[in-house]
This record gives sequence, structure tokens and C-alpha cells, in this order.
Amino acid sequence: MQYRCPQCQSQKVMPIAQAGNTTRPDVPKSLMILVFSIFLLLLLVISNIAMWIFSKGAGTNLQIATAVVFAITAISGVLFWRDLPNFKISMQAFMQSQKVWKCRDCNHQWQI
Ligand SMILES: [Zn+2]
Repeated sequence: MQYRCPQCQSQKVMPIAQAGNTTRPDVPKSLMILVFSIFLLLLLVISNIAMWIFSKGAGTNLQIATAVVFAITAISGVLFWRDLPNFKISMQAFMQSQKVWKCRDCNHQWQI
């Protein structure tokens, strides 16, 4: 199994969706929660810092919210870590089910 362009040896290749091929990687819910909570945590941390700079400190509600979101991020991180082996297998199965590939460097298309 090679994920390189046969023409220019670039690794920037991507599968092309084909009609009838509905195989999708099984993305665990914990990953979606993790990505979402990291994004939320980042927003809260930024607003905490902004509050510290522009006023007398972050409000209690904001601090509680940050702590809660941090806990959610930590829990979903652990859950995702447990889902990771299955996710890897599912991603590999997805990659192997893709037959038509395209190179993003030279636009070469080929079939496996
Ligand atoms: Zn190429």
C-alpha cells in the first residue's frame, strides 16, 4: 500500500470519493467532543486573559466555566485515548477501501 504519487513521489495525495463507495472512517464521538471542548477551552482561556488585562480579574462564572470545560476536555481526552486503537483500525480500513487517488502537487490521478 503506497500513499505516494507514482509520478512525482509527493506524499500530498488524497482519495477521490466514488459513487457507490460509501465507506467512511468511523470517527469516535469522543474525538468530536475533544475537538469541540479544546476549541471552547481556548476561547475561555483567551477571555480569562482578556479579563485579567482589561479589568480587575476574571469573574467567578467565567472561572467556573473554564474549570468545567477543562474537566470535559480531560475526560474526553481519556475517552479518545481509549478509542484510539479502534479509530486507527477504522482509518486503515478506510484508506485501503479507497481505489482512486489524486496528487495535490501535480494533479496526477491513478487507480490502485
Ligand atoms: Zn504527483
